[in-house]
Amino acid sequence: MKKKLIVGNWKMNGSLQANADLVSGLLQGLPAPLNCGVGVAVPAAYLAQAQVLLQGSAIAVAAQDVSQHEKGAYTGEVSASMLQDFGVRYALVGHSERRQYHGETDAVVAAKAQAALAKGITPIVCVGETLQEREAGQTEQVVKRQLAAVIHHVGPCVSELVVAYEPVWAIGTGKTATPEQAQAVHAVLRAQLAAATAHAERVLLLYGGSMNAANAAQLLSQADIDGGLVGGASLKAAEFLQIIAVAN
Ligand code: PGA
Repeated sequence: MKKKLIVGNWKMNGSLQANADLVSGLLQGLPAPLNCGVGVAVPAAYLAQAQVLLQGSAIAVAAQDVSQHEKGAYTGEVSASMLQDFGVRYALVGHSERRQYHGETDAVVAAKAQAALAKGITPIVCVGETLQEREAGQTEQVVKRQLAAVIHHVGPCVSELVVAYEPVWAIGTGKTATPEQAQAVHAVLRAQLAAATAHAERVLLLYGGSMNAANAAQLLSQADIDGGLVGGASLKAAEFLQIIAVAN
């Protein structure tokens, strides 16, 4: 059985004190033995703190974004080698909030995935359709276009990606995709990966969008759902631990 992966996406939440409390709650409550991967994607400002708090633990540090550039005149950006300095294992790329509010195109997202891979950081490539696109029957076309850009850019490294399917209409809305809706899209993504690599089964496909303690079991039992990218429910230690317990 493939190990599942649960990644919390704190988004722009937290403080030194709140982070310390949350992490201490998580570390105390982690199941033993731990049979799934766990990560938390923290704001860049708290990477140093997260590195210290999570040192030697089973919880990986993840970043919420990474620059496509290596260094230089890119004010406000954080490079993959900087992330590497802080022990970052995963970086989200192409989260819908980055695509929507920061104009990230498929090409930029692909370049970011490549920049992360080049420094040994696993990109968690986020794809997903808006409500309008779903209603127009374009879901498959949209997620395939988003993933194709990354597949073409990273070439033989495709099998090293993690992909997160996050329907935009389900993010932060409390409206989760049904397990069947999510599985249907995951199957499309798996087939697309299989056309690009002989190791498509190895690629972890996460579901994200209002995943919580109540719906995690059903979602995670689907054939092609290998884990979760959890926003709101990752900010409460008890609930995030319940999701981890399901994946474990
Ligand atoms: P949500 O966010 O769980 O709060 O819907 C998920 C995400 O945006 O990664």
